[in-house]
Amino acid sequence: MKEACGVVGIVAPGRDVAHLCYDALYALQHRGQESAGMATYHNQQITVVKDNGLVSHVFADTTLRALAGSIVIGHTRYSTSGSANWTAAQPVYRSAGRSGFAIAHNGNLTNTSALADAQDIRVTSMLSDSDLVAELLARSVERGASLAEALGEVLSGAEGAFSMVILEAEAVHAVRDPYGFRPLCLGRLGTEDEPEGWIVASESPALDVVGATFIREIRPGEMLTITTEGVESVQLLEPAGEKQKLCIFEFVYFARPDTYLMGHQVHTTRRRMGELLAGQSVVEADIVMGVPDSGIPAAEGFAKASGIPFGYGLVKNRYIGRTFIAPDQDKRAASVRRKLNPLRENIEGQRLVVVDDSIVRGTTTQALVRMLRDAGAKEVHLRISSPPFMWPCYFGIDTPTRDDLLAANHSISEMNAFIGSDSLEFITLENLRAAIRLDGECCDACLTGNYPAPVPVALGAAGGRW
Ligand code: SF4
Repeated sequence: MKEACGVVGIVAPGRDVAHLCYDALYALQHRGQESAGMATYHNQQITVVKDNGLVSHVFADTTLRALAGSIVIGHTRYSTSGSANWTAAQPVYRSAGRSGFAIAHNGNLTNTSALADAQDIRVTSMLSDSDLVAELLARSVERGASLAEALGEVLSGAEGAFSMVILEAEAVHAVRDPYGFRPLCLGRLGTEDEPEGWIVASESPALDVVGATFIREIRPGEMLTITTEGVESVQLLEPAGEKQKLCIFEFVYFARPDTYLMGHQVHTTRRRMGELLAGQSVVEADIVMGVPDSGIPAAEGFAKASGIPFGYGLVKNRYIGRTFIAPDQDKRAASVRRKLNPLRENIEGQRLVVVDDSIVRGTTTQALVRMLRDAGAKEVHLRISSPPFMWPCYFGIDTPTRDDLLAANHSISEMNAFIGSDSLEFITLENLRAAIRLDGECCDACLTGNYPAPVPVALGAAGGRW
């Protein structure tokens, strides 16, 4: 599974906003490593710099120095299949109105065909749902609407997930869909008495890294308009229900452990997942180890609750960027070996409990178990800190179709046999919800099939972006 994007928006007169944005994007690199970009407004024009690659590859100090102004948006992107090219990088720019505008989007719209058909836009000519939104906004602005009005008009017809930042002359708008699927928070630079600027970002560590103070999350359906005068809020779209539907996998896997979501630190919730998982599934073992990174806190919690010692069994290469696999290599095994290497002296002759966050296709987990056995593990007991992944996601996460989801087509004992583990257990949905401590405020459609928003096709058919 791959997250599809991190976004940032900053308004800070007198500050070097391009460098601040760089640091914030760097803190969000885990949300997308395919491309990165920024758009600034200065001297009545918008400048966009974007390219394929990591944030540190796309921007040099000289590039950042050239991005003048006091207002910026930024984006880091994981591209789903078929769109891993330069033109799919964001922000997306459109010329319309005074100076045009630029959009950076995290999420996935589910009614793109209907939106395009309504305005006779040929879907095949568009690159992404973000391009479609940009086109619809441009048309609305050309008909005389302000960009804020156009956002209300266009997004009120949009379905699915969107946490977006939009830059225009001297303002950044930040808007979140009525369900609040993807995170988006607001921070302040400077003090309460003397604010020096404002930042919105997908996750709170992007605020920490630039020295901003976390203020609050943007509410479902809310739009903030940030200028040098301050922050204005409007409820642009009616919230979809009494309860928000934040993606539950932000807690399980996507978000950084130091991120706060709805008042809960992600690391702490992951530890609780491990504790509750241990209570569900007693096993005799010598050591509990986590699969880096998100499996580690869950393994710590498992060890604490079970009394089995915690240990490290895998070392992760943290410098994976774009990788190439020789055609004659087993793709999954090569990709696992490249990312993870076993600590043989901790593993040899040991009965292991291995805590991981999820099983999607199962092939990666199979390669991991083989690697641990090759390193001398006597037994491998897999414990998974999310329930079986049964349904595709349509809300901004790149997942396979149902046909390729291991849990959708196999019993747990069949999965255990396929993966080659000695035993396999998943946390129950009740325990996952208990660990997160949010009462019905998370989307869990990929675990239950209960999609909170309309999805574009009959359940079970192919999903994802177009
Ligand atoms: S379907 Fe699953 S991955 Fe997608 S938003 Fe809902 S919980 Fe997250």
